[in-house]
Amino acid sequence: MKNQGRGKLLLVDDIKANVNLLRLNLKKDYHIEVAFDGESALEQVAKNPPDLILLDIQMPGIDGYEVCRRLKKNKDTEKIPIVFITSKNEEEDETKGLELGAIDYIIKPFSMPIIKARVKNLMQMKKQQDILESLSLIDGLTEIPNRRYFDHMLHHEWQRAIRAETSLALIMIDIDFFKNYNDYYGHVSGDECLKSVAQTLTSSVNRSMDVISRYGGEEFAAILPDTSLEGALNIGENMRKNVSDLKITHKLSLAADYITISVGIANIIPKTENGQRVLIEGADKALFEAKKHSRNICKICSAEDMKNLCNIRH
Ligand code: GH3
Ligand code: MG
Ligand code: MG
Repeated sequence: MKNQGRGKLLLVDDIKANVNLLRLNLKKDYHIEVAFDGESALEQVAKNPPDLILLDIQMPGIDGYEVCRRLKKNKDTEKIPIVFITSKNEEEDETKGLELGAIDYIIKPFSMPIIKARVKNLMQMKKQQDILESLSLIDGLTEIPNRRYFDHMLHHEWQRAIRAETSLALIMIDIDFFKNYNDYYGHVSGDECLKSVAQTLTSSVNRSMDVISRYGGEEFAAILPDTSLEGALNIGENMRKNVSDLKITHKLSLAADYITISVGIANIIPKTENGQRVLIEGADKALFEAKKHSRNICKICSAEDMKNLCNIRH
């Protein structure tokens, strides 16, 4: 999770003496990064996003206003609070800075105690914001990422796969005869079972880029970036085997004597901006086939079926 331990503060100013003064006074409480121009500030933020940025306006190359504009335009960086520290003291300068989305505007020469107090407040605010954000992306029962996170990450990985021209795989997972399980063993046991399955699915993948989420009810979804159909089938088969190896007794399953999952797998090389639905429909279709066949099995969506789904969509 973000923002563990000391807050990360990025200082951006082309005048080294300014940066050094701030660093000297703030380094006891925060992890400090520095940049001396707009370009390197943007690079640093992309590589290692800070919790707060103190940003000068007048700099050679990209100025502070432009840095702020670009950071606020990008979904990955829009939430990082920015404070302008500048000698531009006209009303319209400050208005412009705040209108660009900066949270505060401090005019040089500044008072160090005031800067310290403001940075402290803003860091606190960012920490709370991060906590809220992480909670709203985690499923309360299973403690794995939720549907909202899935939607966000699928969009993100889709765009990335378009740029990198790599393939993206999606696995949809559904517990077999789970209604019967709840009816027979009760909802508390049902919840426990969901937690065990969620943990097992999560530990069935080994790349940090892979995202396992609770898609809804007793359905889970895995996004596997840069993964072929064969690679995804391996993972899906691992998941299926690991869940059945839990040997959670299920007397009312017609698939086995214990809890099992059905798995649907699809894969695509994303081309169009908003084609994610096709990938979901492909994995859903394969999951439906798995249910129809026998359950406790992995099925893939064939290349031909994927092509047909694409044609229906466009
Ligand atoms: P199939 O093999 O075709 O998937 O059958 P199924 O019974 O698993 O599918 P169905 O969609 O009919 O039932 C899903 C059940 O999952 C319904 C509900 O009782 C249970 N369920 C969904 N969410 C939760 C939850 O958060 N906790 C518990 N305990 N049960 C849940
Ligand atoms: Mg279901
Ligand atoms: Mg089910």
